[in-house]
Amino acid sequence: MAYQAFSDDSLGFTTRQLHAGYDPSRHHRAKTVPIYQDSAFELGDFERGIRLFSFAEDGYSYGRYSNPTNEVLERRLASLEGGGAAVAMASGMSVIANTFLNLATSGDEIVAAGTLYGGSLTLLKKILPQYGIRGVFVSDEDDASSYAAAITDRTKAIFVESLGNPNSNIVDLEKIAEVAHRRGVPLIVDNTFATPYLLRPFEYGADIVCYSATKYLSGHGTLIAGVGVEKGGFDWLNGRYPQFERFYEDNRESIPEDELIGHLFSKRLRMTYLCDMGAYMSPTTAFYVLQGMETLSLRMERHVRNAQAVADFLVSHPAVKDVRYPGLPRSPYHALAEKYFPKGPGAIVSFRPEGGLEAAKRVLERVRLFDFMVNVGDAKSLIVHAATSTHFGQPVEVREAAGVYEDTLRLSIGIEDAEDLIADLAGALAT
Ligand SMILES: *Cc1c(COP(=O)(O)O)cnc(C)c1O
Repeated sequence: MAYQAFSDDSLGFTTRQLHAGYDPSRHHRAKTVPIYQDSAFELGDFERGIRLFSFAEDGYSYGRYSNPTNEVLERRLASLEGGGAAVAMASGMSVIANTFLNLATSGDEIVAAGTLYGGSLTLLKKILPQYGIRGVFVSDEDDASSYAAAITDRTKAIFVESLGNPNSNIVDLEKIAEVAHRRGVPLIVDNTFATPYLLRPFEYGADIVCYSATKYLSGHGTLIAGVGVEKGGFDWLNGRYPQFERFYEDNRESIPEDELIGHLFSKRLRMTYLCDMGAYMSPTTAFYVLQGMETLSLRMERHVRNAQAVADFLVSHPAVKDVRYPGLPRSPYHALAEKYFPKGPGAIVSFRPEGGLEAAKRVLERVRLFDFMVNVGDAKSLIVHAATSTHFGQPVEVREAAGVYEDTLRLSIGIEDAEDLIADLAGALAT
């Protein structure tokens, strides 16, 4: 029988990360996904041009919103995530920004947890408010009732991260999704630190998942990219989203009903925001993300195993006063880690050495294997001083409320040999 693994979502995760979404028989049987480095595509005949521009026919017209290489990535990630549709974008931040713009207009609110990635915080606190969209931060992100209390008639979404930055704190996704759905609001999860291998937020009620593919998905620190995934099935016509009602009315003649209603969010994201604001992924970047994703599950297994070994080492070290990693039994998030992360709660570990800022600086200067860099999710191990980089410029109280002290060091644990990572940290911490 002919090769059909590309369309079989019953295959295992690791099989799908290699095969899902790419049918070689439509691409000269090239086994590697080709890079379609094209600005635009031939429209064919007059009628087909009309169908393409009204999105009535699947196909490619202009590279700002459609490309065959990107489409393989979109389908592959949707399959791994258990979602219905995905949109590739130029960066993680462009996915998050365009997601908010798709959902909220002037006067609207996005309810969010406080321990977000810096770019998302700035977007919600400073940039979107200039356009009348307000970020409303919950008083206690560990308490679902706090999210319920923050929802108003103007709320258009709840936004959280599945593993917070930089301490890998975990929110109770299932409870927050219930709160959101009771009020007809979707739950958006930035799942960048977890990846679909460790956690699939849709299984706990999330409606949209955002990724910075710059991190673990591509996995090698070679590019900037993002992908948004929609589960499908959320009722966008529930009365809260007039812009979706208009969009539905405008397109119901041309686009098949189930396709339109099923994935109204991603259709509008592509047809409105990609089309006219233009943050699509480059096809060459999509190719590199696909290459990286072929080994996602293998890398994540090693990342989490190394992270646990490093966290266990740090906890027992006399020159370390605090370690944050939900895989540690003493972590306040350990129970949630066991529920949501049976394969391991990611590979971001933070710690504070005894001796304050001076001691933290000494560690940074003495590590020989960890690279002093602000990225995460590279196959190589990285270390950064959070207060002067990821959380730069934040008032002390705000930063400390997010668990970032002047001596907090964040580690992104790579896939090296764990004993080398531990020896490097032991050397840097030695007195
Ligand atoms: C890096 C990151 C982003 C932003 O992604 P870019 O690809 O750098 O734009 C968003 N969220 C999280 C959790 C991240 O780690």
